[in-house]
Amino acid sequence: MGDAALIQALQRIVGEQHVLHAPADLAAYAVDATPLLRSLPTVVVFPGSRDEVKAILELASEKRIPVIPRGAASNLSGGTIAIEGGIMLNMNRMNRIIEVDAANLTATVQPGVTTAQLAREVEARGLFYPPDPGSQVISTIGGNVAENAGGLRGLKYGVTRDYVMGLEAVLPNGAILRTGGKNAKDVAGYDLTRLLVGSEGTLAVITEITVKLLPKPETKRAALAIFDRLEDAGRAVARIIENKIIPCTLEIMDKGTIKAVEEFAHVGLPTDAAAVLFIEQDGPRAVVDADIELAGRLCREEGARDVKVAATVEEGTKLAEARRFALPALARLRPTCVLEDATVPRSHLAEMIRFIEATAKKYNLLICTFGHAGDGNLHPTCPCDERDHEELERVEKAFAEIFDKAVSLGGTITGEHGVGIAKQDYLEWKIGEAGVAVSKGIKAVFDPLGILNPGKVLPKATRKRLVVRQG
Ligand SMILES: Cc1cc2nc3c(=O)[nH]c(=O)nc-3n(C[C@H](O)[C@H](O)[C@H](O)COP(=O)(O)OP(=O)(O)OC[C@H]3O[C@@H](n4cnc5c(N)ncnc54)[C@H](O)[C@@H]3O)c2cc1C
Repeated sequence: MGDAALIQALQRIVGEQHVLHAPADLAAYAVDATPLLRSLPTVVVFPGSRDEVKAILELASEKRIPVIPRGAASNLSGGTIAIEGGIMLNMNRMNRIIEVDAANLTATVQPGVTTAQLAREVEARGLFYPPDPGSQVISTIGGNVAENAGGLRGLKYGVTRDYVMGLEAVLPNGAILRTGGKNAKDVAGYDLTRLLVGSEGTLAVITEITVKLLPKPETKRAALAIFDRLEDAGRAVARIIENKIIPCTLEIMDKGTIKAVEEFAHVGLPTDAAAVLFIEQDGPRAVVDADIELAGRLCREEGARDVKVAATVEEGTKLAEARRFALPALARLRPTCVLEDATVPRSHLAEMIRFIEATAKKYNLLICTFGHAGDGNLHPTCPCDERDHEELERVEKAFAEIFDKAVSLGGTITGEHGVGIAKQDYLEWKIGEAGVAVSKGIKAVFDPLGILNPGKVLPKATRKRLVVRQG
């Protein structure tokens, strides 16, 4: 099918105004939030309903055209790059909150609803949707489900997977699949809901999502612990959890990140510190006060030079915002910013951070580390310049060593950003040969023609481990 005929066929399905094909428009859809990756789609289409998605997929199947589902394109693993061209299926028009069901503690939404929009809507009714990726103002629930997104509250509340109860999705051949629902207990058959969560747009297009809600916590309180030694901050994280406090947020920023955030946002962070921990607890007031006080004491015992407790909820929110500035602040330093997602069991946090520092030195790179310390989910981030090929080679080698180390510590190549294109060559390090074979089998069942988000997640090749370890 020629491009002109494809555009006309799509215009017939969604209306002319919901199809983009001018070169300047296509260029805007050639990238996502991942650096170094670009590829033009053939056409961008904005369906307004499940049935339009169905019609588009039926057309794409018949004509063997790649389809790339897309939310806000804020993913950091190349998940929405149209590497084989094709139809960019932009889900943003499907942005209705269909229902908030207070009796069943659920919300049912279309995939284009933003994370922040859902959070605001349910909070207004005294309810709570915990997953809160740093990108929540722009990211969509569809993208969150497809990436199994985490966020700053993952330690206490888990990730998107823990809240998805049911899905409606359209398979590549146009068939409609419904999984799960509002039942708190439902064990009928294979868990297709969980299979679709984290499937990165490669198995089906999600058109409706039912999530679990919680009662809104009574209050929250935040503190900032300032450390002169990174190891002390790592030990403080372990001590807090050993002492049976599970803060809703326990984030770390290293020296480089603190400096970049302070220069960017002027929030009063100590630029001479080796690390800061941002600690937040929510729940009943008495529990929150006791937890924040004990967490502060433990940080001091582990060597924190100061612990600043926010006087009000608003002051705490400001501190949380500082952490959310980490990526935009680091992205300003050089033309390119490679943000990674290595994750280790939290008991290995300090060792992993030390390894990242040593690797940065070895390859003469600036790698700043921040992330969800309580989850062991670190984001080593390297401001660099993609025009400097020699530097990029060093970046690539450094991150291969960082992933290798994370896996050898019982960790993983990605804690929340997904595999996409960026990590596919490392996938086998984590899930093994059998894991890759089963994953390819699952893909073939859902998408026998290979039209849905082709070239993502599944490895074409596998990189050699730097050091082969057993066990
Ligand atoms: C500043 C910043 C901070 C971030 N912080 C976090 C964080 O704390 N935690 C975290 O987990 N991530 C974080 N991210 C990464 C990103 O925001 C998440 O992966 C998010 O879930 C992507 O949502 P999106 O709507 O942008 O999806 P997109 O990037 O558009 O798509 C992501 C994937 O989902 C697929 N997809 C999208 N919609 C659908 C659908 N309806 N059906 C099927 N597949 C679909 C796409 O094909 C793609 O594979 C951050 C990113 C930025 C830029």
